[in-house]
Amino acid sequence: MGLKVYFNGKMVDVSQAKVSIYDHGLLYGDGVFEGIRSYNRLVFKLKEHVDRLYESAHTILLKIPMERTEMIQAVVNTLRANTLSNAYIRVVVTRGVGDLGLDPRKCRQPTIFIIADKIVLYPDAVYKKGMEIITVPTPRNLPEALNPQIKSLNYLNNILAKIEAANAGVSEALMLGANGYVAECTGENIFIVRKGTLLTPPAYIGILKGITRCSVMDLAAKAKMQAREEVLTRHDLYNAKECFLTGTAAEIAPIVKIDGRVIGTGKPGKATARLMRDFRQLTKTAGVRY
Ligand code: PMP
Repeated sequence: MGLKVYFNGKMVDVSQAKVSIYDHGLLYGDGVFEGIRSYNRLVFKLKEHVDRLYESAHTILLKIPMERTEMIQAVVNTLRANTLSNAYIRVVVTRGVGDLGLDPRKCRQPTIFIIADKIVLYPDAVYKKGMEIITVPTPRNLPEALNPQIKSLNYLNNILAKIEAANAGVSEALMLGANGYVAECTGENIFIVRKGTLLTPPAYIGILKGITRCSVMDLAAKAKMQAREEVLTRHDLYNAKECFLTGTAAEIAPIVKIDGRVIGTGKPGKATARLMRDFRQLTKTAGVRY
């Protein structure tokens, strides 16, 4: 038997979980999702992820037909039904099955599924030696059009950026927002260290408010490191002492080169290393047990 997944209220074998070709999640990317992680049978920031899922759904007027507490329980049940101690969990809520038109009112019942599996984003060497990224031509979605704070099933903006990075031979893309300010990467937030202060772009630039980003801000405060949101240009990045990305899948990934410019010493910096250590410790100790 393969992986067990949560599918519309039931735990089923992955081979039994089939979505209709009339599902608007598939036809139009009409839906929302979350990526969550567990470490040693502790689900990290589960409530925060579920809250963000419901906020994304609320903004797109998608009513999730279960309470947040039931969603939390469904995630825990999915993990218990499988044998993974360290998992990557994907929660997806689509508008459901409709007709071939856009109208979401034709979709009577959201499709809900939860997968608990594994994810490997970057090779190990990235965490030891750091990674090179480039700025890509595709800007991040404008918040006035489709706010990146909505974690929707429409990831084409990010996918285009990922393709542009891959075409240039690097694994991650720096995306700019309106007016050319630094926004985020394809599935990660970005931080720099300048004169001992941790800086990251504010949400209004047009980014997803990352849960890892928030954890890093908390860890910085605990470590008595200055940290704040600030509008950043590429010049700020190029001249930073340190740079790193944050995300549920990526965790904390050091950046050592941007658009050919070496960042700091060209090696992962001290503040980054400290935060990576503290983050690792936090994931070991905090979370919902299953
Ligand atoms: N930005 C984007 C566009 C993302 O998809 C993600 C991953 N969900 C992030 C940032 C990082 O967010 P988090 O730390 O909550 O995983």
